Amino acid sequence: MPSTSSRDSRIASHSHIKGLGLADDGSALPVGSGFVGQKSAREACALVLDLIRGKRFAGRALLLAGGPGTGKTALALGMAHELGSKVPFCPMVGSEVYSAEVKKTEVLMENFRRAIGLRVRETKEVYEGEITELTPVEADNALSGYGKTIASVVIGLKTVKGTKQLRLDPSIYESIMKERVSVGDVVYIEANTGAVKRVGRSDAYATEFDLEAEEYVPLPKGEVHKRKEVVQDVTLHDLDMANAKPQGGQDIMSVVGQLVKGRRTEVTDKLRAEINRVVDRYIEQGIAELVPGVLFIDEVHMLDLECFTYLNRALESTISPHVILATNRGECVVRGTEYDGGASGTGEGIVAPHGIPLDLLDRCMIVRTKPYAAEEIKEVLRLRVKTEGLAIAEEALEKLTEEGVRSSLRYALQLLSPASILSRIAGRSEIAVADIAETDGLFLDARRSARHLAGADGAGML
Ligand code: ATP
Repeated sequence: MPSTSSRDSRIASHSHIKGLGLADDGSALPVGSGFVGQKSAREACALVLDLIRGKRFAGRALLLAGGPGTGKTALALGMAHELGSKVPFCPMVGSEVYSAEVKKTEVLMENFRRAIGLRVRETKEVYEGEITELTPVEADNALSGYGKTIASVVIGLKTVKGTKQLRLDPSIYESIMKERVSVGDVVYIEANTGAVKRVGRSDAYATEFDLEAEEYVPLPKGEVHKRKEVVQDVTLHDLDMANAKPQGGQDIMSVVGQLVKGRRTEVTDKLRAEINRVVDRYIEQGIAELVPGVLFIDEVHMLDLECFTYLNRALESTISPHVILATNRGECVVRGTEYDGGASGTGEGIVAPHGIPLDLLDRCMIVRTKPYAAEEIKEVLRLRVKTEGLAIAEEALEKLTEEGVRSSLRYALQLLSPASILSRIAGRSEIAVADIAETDGLFLDARRSARHLAGADGAGML
């Protein structure tokens, strides 16, 4: 899934962030869980976490407002970590909704469902056994162990009544072939579905069998010796996708797939509604629980009125993720109101704080992120150097910090990787001042780049 990998790479630059770095009393440690500084924002986020845990944040959203590279994404990710290791984190950028093919609200809905997890607990009854004989249809294939088609399989099966040698029913051969099972493999066979899973090899008890294999027999019902609790974490979006393109399998995804009838190739509202019904049933039966994750919408001022209306409604839903918005804009026009002569009277659009309509802004708790001091920039850089497995000379770190102060933390962080390549080419074991200077000469930060172009054609236009 290409969208997932771009999402993953978006999170990769935050791999040093493991939480909010809080002390037991909820105060922010100077440095903790990969976080440096931004103390009051972290403490405000910690308070929001308390509200979330106390179920008192429903219908609301958190808005992080601050300059580029001041850690807004890092804060949102840190909060998701604090909520638990399997809590979904779905980052998106406001402008993502403008796609030629998909409706804006459809993009939002998809991301909402990516941010809602489902933890499914299933108790599966399984047989454990060892393949003792496997005969492919064509004798030529005997050596490979798994041929085109299986003629017969004999298994030493553990049951509550002891171990039995059975010639398996051909109905499960397909599943056996999928696992590429061969003689000596230990497998689990799921009692209900007959699904086979290879779990290891055994040299121990293959030789113990001297019993004659019985003829084809169904697995002995009621003699299962093992119950296995299987916990699976999926998102509603995973279920949507798995059911839009059914591919068969034995896990929860296709179990839902079996319940939702019909083959579809795209995720429709009807399919989502059917999946919601199945999920509701699972929750009622105590098999599944919802795990609301974090939906992070960066550059939220890029959304338009239609999206904001959708957001307002989605926040009211009983199965909403925790929504965190971020912006680096102050007062600006709410997109989509520009030609609304009726509302603004001017046709120029409604100006609102952060470009967010007041009815949504009313639901938001707003937290400011502040620019970093030099010491903090240095500390973040030091952390990143360590996370990326690099080495840097102290003076080079000093120089990089200066770049961070002059331009932005993000820019300084971006220089790290190319500088490390240059240092390796020069045969150095650590990044030196010269590498930073050279990298800085090769790339421009945003401000210098804009100034350069303005100077080049005099008008500041591309
Ligand atoms: P933008 O508005 O451009 O999206 P942002 O405010 O979301 O920026 P981040 O992307 O969170 O900024 O920060 C830029 C980089 O700096 C990331 O790699 C992030 O992990 C790191 N970073 C930012 N703040 C801190 C911090 N306080 N401690 C540690 N790392 C940080």
